[in-house]
Amino acid sequence: MKVLVTGGAGFIGGAVVRRLMRDGASVVNVDKLTYAATPEALAEFDADPRYAFVQADIGDAAAMGAAFDRHRPEAVIHLAAESHVDRSIDAPETFIQTNVLGTYTILQAALSYHEHQPASERAQFRFLHVSTDEVFGALAPNASPFTETTPYAPRSPYAASKAASDHLVKAWGETYGLPVVLTNCTNNYGPWQFPEKLIPLMIAKALDGQSLPVYGAGDQVRDWLHVDDHAAALCHILEHGRTGETYAIGARAERRNIDVVRAICGLLDRRRPGPVPYADRITYVADRPGHDRRYAIDPSKLERQLDWRPEWGFEAGLAATVDWYLAHETWWRAIVAHSATGNRQGMYQRRAAE
Ligand code: NAD
Repeated sequence: MKVLVTGGAGFIGGAVVRRLMRDGASVVNVDKLTYAATPEALAEFDADPRYAFVQADIGDAAAMGAAFDRHRPEAVIHLAAESHVDRSIDAPETFIQTNVLGTYTILQAALSYHEHQPASERAQFRFLHVSTDEVFGALAPNASPFTETTPYAPRSPYAASKAASDHLVKAWGETYGLPVVLTNCTNNYGPWQFPEKLIPLMIAKALDGQSLPVYGAGDQVRDWLHVDDHAAALCHILEHGRTGETYAIGARAERRNIDVVRAICGLLDRRRPGPVPYADRITYVADRPGHDRRYAIDPSKLERQLDWRPEWGFEAGLAATVDWYLAHETWWRAIVAHSATGNRQGMYQRRAAE
């Protein structure tokens, strides 16, 4: 199968590309290479005839049309997005441009391509849209986790832009008959995650001898899924999911942020002991505006209908992730150094100043 992956140079997109390539598929990776991209995570495929890279903005209609015409994919997995909530609060415009207008543009390109496919290929074509549980808003502490039927209630510019993209994808399915499938996934963690997100940020700051800034009291709850499990779920859904359906993806691994940070500290204490326990450097900083208290996914539909379950447990996955960041210091330290010089500004720099 030939799959066009948007955002394949990103954290989750990279895991999806590696999974598809391992499974014998051909991949066309369409990525603008923003600050968040990590093309080095795909270097092993540079000379592979099954892999093609197209550097382009998903909002560029001509480039998207050309990518479809030239590569003639049998399916699309759409991951390209601006993905960091703090950035969406500081500068929402690119989130609207990429997540909303970019999704509109690639939907139009996919539709035009699909309409002109030969009948045999048309029947197989799929557009899989990758979204987040943040579109559902915040959960009360004892409320049931989100499901596919939870009403949308996004609260951050990031979540609102992803919600808008979900609605567009559903509308293109209903109105124009584009064979779409949607997923809403919980928080991901694992190798190659840009060190502005919670887990790599804390590992990097701890190893840098800095304080470990935790928002509010650290009692926000997130439901964690290893990125390789997310990639596996997406490939499974692409193959077995039903057109027009939405699947919520999660691992039933709810943890408070402060407990995640303490777990990272404990792992580092054992692997690279410092002069004092790492947890002594935890500091509590002013909470993010509109910070959602809790997200959690009920993945029953995916388990029941498609018989899919994650392989990683959170504690083993977190330990493997800490080991990965210890083994890849050159990679993340270069990003942190860029951030400090203002070339790749982000939370690392901003929180460091707090
Ligand atoms: P990321 O920020 O690591 O990667 C995004 C990728 O998209 C980058 O390679 C970037 O260069 C590319 N990109 C950005 N704007 C583009 C544009 N206009 N045109 C082409 N490429 C562009 O993001 P991620 O964490 O890998 O998330 C991927 C997708 O999964 C997103 O749609 C996100 O909403 C969704 N998601 C993420 C999580 C999570 O925990 N990270 C959870 C659920 C869903």
